[in-house]
Parts: sequence; C-alpha cells; structure tokens
Amino acid sequence: MGFDSFLGNPQAVAAVREMLAIGRVPGALLFTGPEGVGKKTLALMMAKALVCERGGADFCDQCARCRKAEQMLASTREDLARRRESKDSARRVEGLVYFDLQLLEPLTKFILTEQIRQLRAIAYTRPFEFPRRIFILDEAQSIHWQAVDLLLKVLEEPPETTSFILVCPNSFELRSTIRSRCMRIAFQPVEQALIQELLARERKLTGPQKALAVRVAAGSVARARTFDPAEYERRRQPWLDFLEATARRGAPGATTDWRLVFDSARALAENRDDFEGTLKIGYSLLSDLLHILLNPAADAVVNVDLAARLKGWAPKLTLSGIEKLKAGLDQAYRLQIRNVNPQLGFETLGIEMLSGRESSSR
Ligand SMILES: [Zn+2]
Repeated sequence: MGFDSFLGNPQAVAAVREMLAIGRVPGALLFTGPEGVGKKTLALMMAKALVCERGGADFCDQCARCRKAEQMLASTREDLARRRESKDSARRVEGLVYFDLQLLEPLTKFILTEQIRQLRAIAYTRPFEFPRRIFILDEAQSIHWQAVDLLLKVLEEPPETTSFILVCPNSFELRSTIRSRCMRIAFQPVEQALIQELLARERKLTGPQKALAVRVAAGSVARARTFDPAEYERRRQPWLDFLEATARRGAPGATTDWRLVFDSARALAENRDDFEGTLKIGYSLLSDLLHILLNPAADAVVNVDLAARLKGWAPKLTLSGIEKLKAGLDQAYRLQIRNVNPQLGFETLGIEMLSGRESSSR
C-alpha cells in the first residue's frame, strides 16, 4: 500500500512526497491533467498521508486515522449520491456536515454556492478528529460562478489547519485569481507500457482486444479499467456501415446503398444519453483515416483491429471527403446541443457525401 501502489505520473507522486517529507504542504494545491489518470486518487492518498499516525511521507492504510479517513470518504460518497438524487433544490443542500477529510463534488452541474458557503464556515474552525482538515474539490471548474468569490476569499486568507486540493482537468477553466492562489501539480497521460501491464494484470482480454484497449485508453487508467471491447465494437459498427457506404461511392460499377446510409444514421443517433461517446468513436475513426493518408508510417491508429479495412477506405474517401465527414460530425454535435435529433444531421451528411454535393451551411 502507500504511494507505491499509485500507477504512473512519477513526477506528480514525487512532488507530493517531497512536500510531505519536508513538511511544507501549501494551503492550496491544484491537480490538473487529463481524465482518468488518478488526480483524485492521488489527492486522497495525500490527504491520508497528511493525517497517518505513522507520519513521514507516506500512509499505511492500517492505522486508526487511515481507516477513519476511509470511513469519512465512504460516508461522503453516500451523502453525495443521496443529495444528487434529490429533486428539491433546498433539500439538496440541507444540513451539510463536513468531515475533517471532505470530498466536494458537483451536486448538480455545479458545485453549489451552499457547498462553498459551508466550506468557508468550517475551514477556520479546529478539526474534530484529525490534526488537520483536508478539503478536496473535485471538478473544481464546476464551482458555481456565484461561489467563486467566496472560495477566493478563503484561499486569500488561508486557514491554519485546513488544506485544499482542487482537482480539475484544465487549469485554464478556473478563474486566474483562483489558479494563482494554488500550487499546481500537472499530470500526464499514463505510459502505454504501464497501461499494458495493468490490462494484463486486471483484465481478461485477448491479444487483439488488449491492443485495442491500450489505444482507446490513450493513457487513461480509468478507461483501461472500464473498456468493454464488445460494447465498443457494437457502437462502432454503424460508423463502419456509414463509412463503407461512403467509401464505395465512385467505385466503378458501384451502386449507392441508401439503406445502409439511413440505417446507420438512425443507429448513430440512437444513444442520446451518451451521444458524445458515439461521436468520440466517429472522430477516432476519422482521425485514423487521416493518419493513414497523411502519415502512414506513424503507427498512430487507434482502431488497430481495423487497420487493413481503414487502409482500403482512406484513399477512396480522399482528404477532402474525410474533412467533410469531420465537419458533419461537428454539425451533429451542435444539433445535439440544441436538442435536435442528430439523425437528421447524419442523413444529410450521407446524402451530401454520396451525391457529391457541397455541404450546405446551416
Ligand atoms: Zn496510517
């Protein structure tokens, strides 16, 4: 156990351990970097190390305080889940009680003003059970704009016994006044070799599935852990049908398969709950096709299991065709944000691609 169990990002871990070792932990830290690389996990580890009875620059996970920290986290997670389910906005923030180790997360789209108000009310009081209090603000970019000044005031007058760790993918999503009050620790995508080891250790995947998982995970431990090859292939299939129909255009003697276009357009628009996930797969295929056309030596294809098929399609689709498809995906994304069924966008795109008409701007 301890920091040695953390996967990847050795510089970030070293920076944290160094601070702990010399006993100089800034009042406010900011952990930034891509999704799924362990920013929150390391923040929680650091919190434990700050209170662990064994002291030093690590935590044991066995002493009373380490165990207590785990209990606090479990209770916090239950509390967050219960509050998120509440439909009543007043009840949602009613009776907020913060532990000495407290994880703050968005209760709606936002970390709400009341959550920050409670944080401020308690930050200057003595901790109940631990030598210091640690507040971890996950997805700190979601702090409601009305609460940002409140938090800033706290960071400007740092409480003696409370430490803050803000976690956020991109520090530029935070207001610069907040950013400048925090010491920043940057995380990177986790190395491929480590992701491969993790997959070999934790997942039962075939060789080709592992190769695909490594590429799709793109340095994210969380994505490597949750990647489901069957689900991925199922969701990718309509894209392949769509590309197949589009690539066939212009081939000698080819007939246009309108049914394939419309069926795949419908299938692509189906999963409205995770439409961004659907689009992401589409973008990954287009980016693979671009790599094949522009930089075939680079070995940067994500959908490695399809490399041969993609190589066949790329020259038929041509560079301008792929760019047109990408513009179509952008358009589908915008339609979806405006709550318009993106099926229409895909159908139009298919018609334009197959008839060779210029894209109409909407
Ligand atoms: Zn301990």
